[in-house]
Amino acid sequence: MNRHSGLGLVLSLFAILVVPALWADGETAPARDPKQPVDEAYTAKIQKYTTAPYFTSPLVNYLPASKTVPTPEAVLGDVAGAPGILPYAEDVYKYMRLLEEASPRVKIFSIGTTEEGREMIAVAVSSAENLKSLEENRARLEKLADPRTIKLDDAEADKLVAQAVPVYYITGTIHSPETGAPTALMEMAYRLAVDESPYIREIRDGMITLITPVVEVDGRDRMVDLYRWHLAHPEDFYPPLIYWGKYVAHDNNRDAMGVTLKLTENVLNTYIGWKAQVLHDLHESVPYLYDNTVGDGPYNAWVDPILADEWQMIGARNVADMTKFGMPGVFSHGDFDTWSPGYLMFIAAMHNGISRLYETFGNGGADTQERTVDPEDYARTWYRQNPPLPKTLWSQRDNNNYEQTGLLTSLHFFNENKRLFLKNFYLKAKRSVLKPSAEGPAAYVLPADDPRLSLQAELLRVLRKQAVEISRAKSAFIVSLPVKKEPKPKKKQDAKEAAEKEAAPAPTTREFPAGSYIIRMDQPYARIADALLDHQYWSPDDPQKTPYDDTGWTFGELFGVQVSRVTDLKVLDVSMERVTEIHARGGVKGEGAVFAINNNAEPALATLRYKMKDAGMEAAEEPFESGGKKFNRGSFVIRNTNRNELDRAAAGLGLQVVALAAAPSVKTHPVRAARVAFVHTWLSTQTEGWWRLALDNLGIPYAYMSTQAIAKIDDLNAKYDVILFPPVGFASSPTAIINGIPMAWGNPLPWKNTPETPNLAGKNDSTDDMRPGLGWDGLAKLQAFVQKGGVLLTATDTSRFATETGFTTGVSTSSSQKLKIVGSVLGARLIDGASPIAYGYEEKLSVYCDNGPIFSLTSIAGARGRRRLGPESHSRPTGRGSMNDPDFTVGRSSVEVPEEPSWETWEAPPVTDEQRRNGFRVIPPANRPRVIFRYADSKELLISGLVEGSDEIAQHPAIVDVPSGSGHVVLFSINPVYRGETHGTYSLVLNTILNFDSLKVGRKLAEK
Ligand SMILES: [Zn+2]
Repeated sequence: MNRHSGLGLVLSLFAILVVPALWADGETAPARDPKQPVDEAYTAKIQKYTTAPYFTSPLVNYLPASKTVPTPEAVLGDVAGAPGILPYAEDVYKYMRLLEEASPRVKIFSIGTTEEGREMIAVAVSSAENLKSLEENRARLEKLADPRTIKLDDAEADKLVAQAVPVYYITGTIHSPETGAPTALMEMAYRLAVDESPYIREIRDGMITLITPVVEVDGRDRMVDLYRWHLAHPEDFYPPLIYWGKYVAHDNNRDAMGVTLKLTENVLNTYIGWKAQVLHDLHESVPYLYDNTVGDGPYNAWVDPILADEWQMIGARNVADMTKFGMPGVFSHGDFDTWSPGYLMFIAAMHNGISRLYETFGNGGADTQERTVDPEDYARTWYRQNPPLPKTLWSQRDNNNYEQTGLLTSLHFFNENKRLFLKNFYLKAKRSVLKPSAEGPAAYVLPADDPRLSLQAELLRVLRKQAVEISRAKSAFIVSLPVKKEPKPKKKQDAKEAAEKEAAPAPTTREFPAGSYIIRMDQPYARIADALLDHQYWSPDDPQKTPYDDTGWTFGELFGVQVSRVTDLKVLDVSMERVTEIHARGGVKGEGAVFAINNNAEPALATLRYKMKDAGMEAAEEPFESGGKKFNRGSFVIRNTNRNELDRAAAGLGLQVVALAAAPSVKTHPVRAARVAFVHTWLSTQTEGWWRLALDNLGIPYAYMSTQAIAKIDDLNAKYDVILFPPVGFASSPTAIINGIPMAWGNPLPWKNTPETPNLAGKNDSTDDMRPGLGWDGLAKLQAFVQKGGVLLTATDTSRFATETGFTTGVSTSSSQKLKIVGSVLGARLIDGASPIAYGYEEKLSVYCDNGPIFSLTSIAGARGRRRLGPESHSRPTGRGSMNDPDFTVGRSSVEVPEEPSWETWEAPPVTDEQRRNGFRVIPPANRPRVIFRYADSKELLISGLVEGSDEIAQHPAIVDVPSGSGHVVLFSINPVYRGETHGTYSLVLNTILNFDSLKVGRKLAEK
């Protein structure tokens, strides 16, 4: 009791300290306009729903009244943040449109639709005068955004800075279980439109606040369904939100590199179209307001230092203002590193603006609840002198108070300093234009003779979406390449040798053919191109030990296309033209009735196979030459088809088809449009969601079903040829996949469309109860499918599931001990190019990996594959002679020592004669696993990102084809289909699908 009243005393002291007089010199204090009447009823409810006096501020503890403009109550039936009320996106829009009707200070823009066809909007709030002159203002901002238009003239920029009205873009509820932002933004839009206090009026007159109240609209409607279900069944557990958008959940905030989701594209286009200065994204996972704009290191290497300083300025002031209000738990430094550019807000950071992000405290719905926070969250630290309370009653209104207070103080501070920020906006763009000579590179070049032109086009389309300018060389050109410096050797002798080598560092040049694409770096949005195309290195010695997300992403590597980083400034003088539409050249050339397409592991090949269902397509099992052209192994040979139809399809896909006078004599096998089942769990759907997205974009049909559904199909082989079981995510265990969610207690967790939950399933999968998993019966059916000739494809945690539940005799998985690979790009090496899975790939391949699992092989059933112990273990015993001499025994003639078997890390140890004695455990050669790709050697493993303790996984198998009964299990240690970033490895999956009944092709068996 005593301690509690002590706390109360401290807090009331805080309250006394909150007086406008303490506000910054010359700045308007946050206080309401005493002349403007207050909406008493609304204000009373705000106070009622706020659970403690220190969870609010003078900016939001009242609502100004208006005779003409409706408050959020008009749509919500209560105030913003009221308990039990969570509006659908449609209701949020309805209110915003009421505001637009009632006030000349509000204007709504439709910014596109979601995958499921729901509308996304942006609400502009500003003075009527500002909204009337949006186009003139945009023209000014466009000049600042592209300093080339004013010839980099700083004086001209200053004039524009003095006249321009900045745009501050706020986005809410990208993460669907983080539910508070829409009501906070409804009320804030009202305040900005109606409030006559000087503090708010300055914001309204001085800048344009742009608001997208719901970013993940599909997910919002599902979440509201769930919440209403929860209100209708208060005693029951409610289902977890397993689907947010159509494809992915939390990862919708990791798409700002690949721009594969509609929400990313729509926000990006809005941000770029408005030439906004800030993109501020709202989240709710940390008490009570963490402005993670400042976050922690390492910072993304490609951001302009000016931006890093802006983060500090805005963050520090934001915390200071809210601290003065007496609001606990507001801070700006914490464990979020600003390395990956995948976050939605980072669109601004990579396009010369300011990225910002709030984590506030949400209850995942609108219930008022007693919340206990983690000790690390309530501890006072140097950057959080007034930490959150360990335990508190928390309401949605509290959350709305924090969100609005944070935003309003930010808007005000931004307005106070808008000339500085507008000038910085210009300077960042100018420095980007000056990049080639300032820091380089001058350009990136994507050569016209890349064998994967359709993938190259795919990569260029990502850059187009990112508003990057792309040019094409009109003629061939030569650039000089920098000499790569070798690291200084530590030993003297090596240093001497190196010095001799270094004596003549021959300057190298490279010629690029006409038609090569050039990404000039002297453009305003060079920064994003540089960040995507360059390589990343995260030091194992970095003080940051827990990277927040992926550490590497180099797009050229992951797309499997050539990208040259050119520092030679001469590249900018090459005769070139700007291109706005990217299409790889495709179609049929030559004369003849047989057609061939070279296989370079382009996913478009699979699209073609499914598109032309009736055409006879075959794969060449060996490389061949025809009509003076060389074709790789796996190249398509197409007979009995309509040339025009093929020409059209190939042109659309960017595939080059060669008509041949006669069929090549090479051995072929059919390439089939396999019937594909795609399996998901009810544990998580996000990681597999990226696979669905890729297959949908490629036009590969599949039957989408849960582990529950597949367990109910008696004869899987009658319906499907291939079952894809993509990663579950979160390193799910085999038993979790089998058992699902515990059923021994609780109630069923339905996931389906009902009158109560009309949006829940949408067109995704549904179930009466999410809890059951695959089950042991389902496991048996899956195993029978493989035994009877089916192909099961697994990756990462589902590979572990397959190896640990008896699908893959001869392969075991192990977890790493010291290995640390956090979402990195690694090198892989081709082991068996004759396997159809490898068709179109070269010796070296770049792959996405996130810590394995580590595969090891054995040829002895029941044994675990083991790691080779290294050469030391084969050293001779102590005895006569030198290290390489044989030992001897006194009184006995010497005997020939049997040769020690040796094997590579990716191979199974050779079967010994001893093991073969009554060797019923020895796996017959035809049943042994076949390694297709392995991880590169330790030294060559890292391409981009972080790798620590690489010896554990280096050289181990990365992709293994395991014969099982009449079928196959194809195991991936890598994730080949990930976040729209790994197009270069898609064909590993597609090859497996197309060649499902010919996977044994090219297999060389061991002799014994
Ligand atoms: Zn979030």
